[in-house]
Amino acid sequence: MFTVDNLKKTLQLFKEKIDQNKDYLSELDTPIGDGDHGNNMARGMEAVSESLGSKETETIQDIFKVTAMALISKVGGASGPLYGTAMMEMAKASATTAEALPILEAGLAGIEKRGNSKPGEKTMLDEWAPAIDAIKSDTLTEATLKAAVEATKDIAATKGRASYVGERSIGHIDPGAMSSMYFFQSLMEAGV
Ligand code: ADP
Ligand code: MG
Ligand code: MG
Repeated sequence: MFTVDNLKKTLQLFKEKIDQNKDYLSELDTPIGDGDHGNNMARGMEAVSESLGSKETETIQDIFKVTAMALISKVGGASGPLYGTAMMEMAKASATTAEALPILEAGLAGIEKRGNSKPGEKTMLDEWAPAIDAIKSDTLTEATLKAAVEATKDIAATKGRASYVGERSIGHIDPGAMSSMYFFQSLMEAGV
């Protein structure tokens, strides 16, 4: 169940993890992308933190919406609109529920729609989908999250920049799946 407090805490933890792992995320993006994922996400979460500090947010819907707008407007890379759309769809879903599962499912559907993508293509969806499946069966653990990220190594990318290297992306972790792991870890740590 999302509350104003645990959602704010989630975003604060997410920002911290992104900042701590900024160079690592960009390193993951180097062999199969353009080496900017850590910088993109750090810039985005800095903007989120500034917006949340300066705008009135009274509901979880307000918080998701402010987060979405900051990510969409401040991140140039693919990840900005994708995470931003996820947050915007979560804002819409939170008009009628505060339950984590339907809200996160709406976020996942938003990424799929915006990215014209599905799980199995070596993207952030390969973290979102297994994480949400685990939440559904009440079996979400740190190990589930890590195993899903690790499993992106075995996939040849067919979406995003990594698809340009195709088969040669095998053996590398998807950077967006890794940043998504930090998001789900943050949810768990915030007690959502
Ligand atoms: P860019 O590729 O524009 O430099 P980033 O490096 O910030 O953007 O983000 C790359 C990440 O975005 C990838 O690792 C992948 O997880 C995700 N991504 C890219 N394209 C898609 C897509 N069509 N659907 C879902 N996720 C995607
Ligand atoms: Mg990149
Ligand atoms: Mg880029």
